[in-house]
Amino acid sequence: VNLMADAPEHRPATRVIDVGRGASGTSLNPPIWPTAVWQSDGLEAAHRGATTIRSGQFYGRYGNPTVRAFEEAVAELERAGLPDIDAMAFGSGMGAVTSTILALCSAGSHVVAARQIYSGTLAFLQGPAARFGIETTFVDSTQPGALEAAVQPGRTVLVIAETPSNPRLELVDLDEVGSIVGPFTMIDSTFATPLGQNPLAHGVDLVLHSATKGISGHNDVTLGVVAGEADLIAELWSYGVLHGATASPYDAHNALRGIRTLHVRLAQQTGTAQRLAEFLAEHPAVSAVHYPGLAGHPQHDLAKRQMREFGSMLAFELRGGRDAVASMFTRMGVARCATSLGGTETLMTHPATTTAVSLTPAEKDEAGVSEGLVRVSVGLEDPHDLIDDLSQALR
Ligand SMILES: *Cc1c(COP(=O)(O)O)cnc(C)c1O
Repeated sequence: VNLMADAPEHRPATRVIDVGRGASGTSLNPPIWPTAVWQSDGLEAAHRGATTIRSGQFYGRYGNPTVRAFEEAVAELERAGLPDIDAMAFGSGMGAVTSTILALCSAGSHVVAARQIYSGTLAFLQGPAARFGIETTFVDSTQPGALEAAVQPGRTVLVIAETPSNPRLELVDLDEVGSIVGPFTMIDSTFATPLGQNPLAHGVDLVLHSATKGISGHNDVTLGVVAGEADLIAELWSYGVLHGATASPYDAHNALRGIRTLHVRLAQQTGTAQRLAEFLAEHPAVSAVHYPGLAGHPQHDLAKRQMREFGSMLAFELRGGRDAVASMFTRMGVARCATSLGGTETLMTHPATTTAVSLTPAEKDEAGVSEGLVRVSVGLEDPHDLIDDLSQALR
């Protein structure tokens, strides 16, 4: 599928308005197809539906036109001028992660993964994947060359990294990952969104998003998506149709609506995140701020090289540890205590008690999850209100 090959390359703000409309006819919005089944026009058509890769209108698990519109939109935003880029949606980000790993790996396969990855991905690699004989080597992906050095030629099937990473906003050099020869490479780009960076342009094979987050942007969707070369995505489809982490057309529709405002949301949220990070960096109760847009971020130059926007996510550490975090959370009036990210509401998370709770103390140390660490997903509130509120809560 060579999506919109002849379309002129518009700027991102225009492209998010254009994408995913290919099959909606005269309906301005892609319609929702609330059906699990399509009627076949005789045996030949039924046979085609049952045997064609990505057959569109056969059975819900095989595909749905609303989901397809969402997939085409993401493929178009991620393709970065490359030909033959396609995407596949899944019922959640973890549905995308697990389906991709199980589609590409077999018993005896070796995976190289960044230590700085989403806790669910980490738990899957350490638990079920290991149980099925898929062995993973975890490395510190902020160290130049570390991912490549862990590759075992002929045995490593997949390299997985995340940038910026959860929860400390550490970056992975996309050019380095893209230049790894042999295994498939996959970047979880959830924190950046398709407008913040395009890993495929750096030679990476697969880019993955939890579309539950910034892509949908309103905390009303559970959805995942993977983009890459059409042949490879077809392989994921052939496995995914059996795995069954199928995306809902309702979620795909909400996600498409989210994409229309992704550019303005990301620009606004990035601006507020930068101001919040600068405010926190000056605050006496705060010992560290992690935001790629700060000149003091250890990988600020890399961020400038590979990111269009520094994004809506930041983290900071309170000198007072867990007690200080607990008392700040009870005093906040604008930011909310909740997990997840990328939506319109500013959400704060204490990773040590929530997203990283399953890690051992040693793993928490390695991941930099201290008792005073707070992760912030910056929303669309007025930055003055956010800073005033945080200021009084910290006092
Ligand atoms: C949330 C998240 C996931 C998992 O996505 P779900 O939609 O919750 O299944 C994967 N990676 C990152 C970076 C995430 O933030």
